[in-house]
Amino acid sequence: MKIKLVDCKTILSRSRIYGVDYAVNPYLGCMHGCLYCYARFMLKHLPQGLEWGEFVYVKINAPLILVRELRKKKKGLVLLSSVTDPYQPIEKRYELTRKLLEILARRDFPLIILTKSDLIVRDLDILKKFSDVEVGLTIVTLDENVREVFEPRAPPIKKRLEALSEVKQAGLKTYAFLGPLLPFFSEESLEDLFEKFKEVEVDRVMVDKLNIKSGNWRYIKKGLEENYPSLLEKFREYAFNEEYYLMLKPRIIRLAKNYSITVDFCF
Ligand code: SF4
Repeated sequence: MKIKLVDCKTILSRSRIYGVDYAVNPYLGCMHGCLYCYARFMLKHLPQGLEWGEFVYVKINAPLILVRELRKKKKGLVLLSSVTDPYQPIEKRYELTRKLLEILARRDFPLIILTKSDLIVRDLDILKKFSDVEVGLTIVTLDENVREVFEPRAPPIKKRLEALSEVKQAGLKTYAFLGPLLPFFSEESLEDLFEKFKEVEVDRVMVDKLNIKSGNWRYIKKGLEENYPSLLEKFREYAFNEEYYLMLKPRIIRLAKNYSITVDFCF
């Protein structure tokens, strides 16, 4: 893993994501290295030869920049993070996300977090200071073998469920991010997924489809060839077909209703 300390010019960036005003990405790159990650497009702005998942740039001056930017910017919803995982393993060493949270808490900007890591529970003390905060953990399968293929260096599902439960017990709003929906794999465990989400008392489930872009198909294909070769062709057919996701929608809405959980779709 290549680790580099860099200075950033901005940290509170305007976001184009619907409903979100700003995105804060403390790191550039992500150690979790998910095969389906479309944040790979960031590679365009970096020196050639870097592989997504094998490097992290630590924006070491981000706290200083955030303090400056907050003086000038209007209050708005902050997403932490949009193209990296704010709680990837390097966060244990640098505590950059924690420092940024401390600064955001002083201005009490509304906050939505998305991570795959149970390290989030370390920061419950700061998160409790926000008057409007929602914490999400990504869970797209309950099968650890599938998780290991698609999200090779992210924490196990069990830890994520435990984290969701702990955040909820601490009195904060939680959501499970069921995205991206992986053809076959997410589909076959939809019912079990909702059962688990109910068990850990999430306030809502957010669902997204698989976006094949930024060169991620090459990695997904390789993962399938090596681990689930018999599913490759069908997976390809569904993954590129909008209809497949639309077909899953009513089933997900029904399940959410049965389990009395609010569901929101990103597609
Ligand atoms: S955790 Fe998120 S940002 Fe990191 S590699 Fe996976 S999908 Fe990409």
